[in-house]
This record gives sequence, structure tokens and C-alpha cells, in this order.
Amino acid sequence: MTHDGSSVERPVSLEAWRGGPRTPGVAVLAIPGGSARLRSAGIALGLGVLLALVFLPIPIVHFAGVPLALLGGLVMAGRRLAPGARLRAIRGTCPHCGHEQSFYLGPSWKRGGVSRQLVCESCAQTLAAVEADGADAT
Ligand SMILES: [Zn+2]
Repeated sequence: MTHDGSSVERPVSLEAWRGGPRTPGVAVLAIPGGSARLRSAGIALGLGVLLALVFLPIPIVHFAGVPLALLGGLVMAGRRLAPGARLRAIRGTCPHCGHEQSFYLGPSWKRGGVSRQLVCESCAQTLAAVEADGADAT
């Protein structure tokens, strides 16, 4: 459990369907610190090299396997090294039934767009979390 870095909350909108009713929500984003990113990238690169070494003695497979493994390790490392927040959870009120809940997303969620399908735990209807643009100034 690495705990350097911080987390921020960003306002999002929970949309019942495209263009449908929206309710306000909050996205919780974790921002890993530099050392955590570096360690994570090192692990990815190491796995790629390890995989390449495994493929190396296998005939034919090593033609594709070795460069692919190395490339994969590099790409993974690059992505992990990139600064930016990782989405951790979304909290908000269901636009269908009004049930307040927290959508746990797990650590597998990558950084980038918040937009994602969610399912209400109360009414089991799907909704989408979309970035709240500053357009809703009242
Ligand atoms: Zn609901």
C-alpha cells in the first residue's frame, strides 16, 4: 500500500441517459506521488524485460514475442509514469430514483476520462458519469 500522493474531488454529473436528467455527483481522484509513479513504472518495465527473457529461447515465438514484450513493458511504464489522477470512486445521487450512493470503481480504473457507465445499487438502472462542465452556472 503506497500512500504518497493525494486525492482530489472533482464535480461530475450523473446522467440517466444521453441528454437525460442529470444529478450532481463527485468523482474522487487519486494523484500518485512521483516516487509511487516511478516505482510502478519500474515494475512494468521489469515485467516486460522478464517476459522478453522468457520468450527469448523459444524458436519462432521470439521473433514476435521478444519485441512485443519489450514494447509492452515500455508502453506500460510510460503510461504509469505519466502524471495525472486515477479515478477511484464516484459519489452522487441516482438520476433515476434519487438514491444517494457511492460507486466504488476499484484500483483498475485508469486516469483519463471520467465518462463511464455505472449501475445504481437501488434501482439497478444504468447511468453515466460525465464531466461536469462549468456551464451549469445558475
Ligand atoms: Zn437508482
